[in-house]
Amino acid sequence: MTKGWKIPYSVVGSRVGPEELAAVGEVLKSGATLSGGDHRTAFERAFRDLVGSRHALTVTSGTVALELATSVLDLRPGDQVIATPQTYQATIQPLLGRGLSVRFCDIDALSLNVDPRSVEEQITTRTRAIFVVHYGGWPADMEALMALARTHGLAVVEDCAHALGSKLGGRTPGSLADIGCFSFHSSKNITTLGEGGMITFDRDDWADRVGRMRSNEPDATFDEDDELRAFFTPTPGAVLEKNALSARCEALRRPGTNATMSEAAAAVGLVQLAKLDALVARRREVADAYRRAIEGIEGVRASCPVGDIRHAYHLFTLFVDPATGIDRNRLVSYLREVGIEVQLRYFPLHLLPEWRAQGHGPGECPVTEKVWFEQQVNLPCHPSLTHADVAYVCEQLVAGIAASRRRSDSRGSGPATAPA
Ligand SMILES: *Cc1c(COP(=O)(O)O)cnc(C)c1O
Repeated sequence: MTKGWKIPYSVVGSRVGPEELAAVGEVLKSGATLSGGDHRTAFERAFRDLVGSRHALTVTSGTVALELATSVLDLRPGDQVIATPQTYQATIQPLLGRGLSVRFCDIDALSLNVDPRSVEEQITTRTRAIFVVHYGGWPADMEALMALARTHGLAVVEDCAHALGSKLGGRTPGSLADIGCFSFHSSKNITTLGEGGMITFDRDDWADRVGRMRSNEPDATFDEDDELRAFFTPTPGAVLEKNALSARCEALRRPGTNATMSEAAAAVGLVQLAKLDALVARRREVADAYRRAIEGIEGVRASCPVGDIRHAYHLFTLFVDPATGIDRNRLVSYLREVGIEVQLRYFPLHLLPEWRAQGHGPGECPVTEKVWFEQQVNLPCHPSLTHADVAYVCEQLVAGIAASRRRSDSRGSGPATAPA
């Protein structure tokens, strides 16, 4: 719900305009296929070049990308996967229902990325993979994680849903581990008409497999010795007959799906990709203004990296230190009352019912729990915010923090009169 907010959190994380409209119009007027055509190929090629992966395949959502990633890893019942508890539930939803066990590692209290030391503590002889998120657009410590993965023979999946436009030491998330999964949902850094995703990796055999799985596995290999051959005279190269004929190739098949991105969506994706640098630059300006506004205020800090990291600021996360008397919940109420739609993201996964049903629960990830329940607030951070919007948030933030400090004479929450 964004109605009534002076500064909404944003339902569209990008900016769409006449260029996107024109791209959709061209596709519709062309008379060419609306599914699986030249725009999809061009979008995938541009994405591959940007990320620096050998392959990039479009799919219909980030969730589907994560499902396909889980499939190609061939995880078996009893295998263990280490995952971050601080992310959107889609990151590890595909791990449910496969007989896998998930071990949640804890996170770093500033970046909210997985803490490599905590990951290491969770590794056992049954561990097969690590699922990490570049939280909010701040790339995780991939050097430490990949060193662990190599030592223990683990696969690493990067959930890059927030990370498009970020950099780690000049390198691009999505090419830093075995598989990258991107989302082009309405709220993300770029969008392909509201829904869409991309999966990136280097392996050619996975390109073949993912390519088949996302399109109901056409062209399954025809087996010449098939016993049904006696009943048909196949036309050489006829895909339909091959599939109909080949009883044995049926047995080689894996479950597929249809996750084909439409041509209109891919055409919009191409336009959006060209705007990516400008969109992320604006996110970074907004973040910088927020960071400067809270500089020097006791007990408040922001999720801002130092060093050779380009944060994409999909999220701007602020932390208050309750030990200095600031009540996070009071700050949230204050900001909402003055029309700023702040959010708490994301409820720790190990406390969700589906994971509690698997034996997880409170106390498992102390840093994650403390940050979520006492410290963090997400401010609106997106390219459509104006300078006036940002100035208003900065001003109210400073006033809100002052009003949220526990004092012996204070009564309840709510906007206080801003100090002169
Ligand atoms: C949005 C998101 C997803 C899922 O992407 P969809 O395209 O919405 O399916 C996965 N992981 C994270 C961290 C996300 O924010």
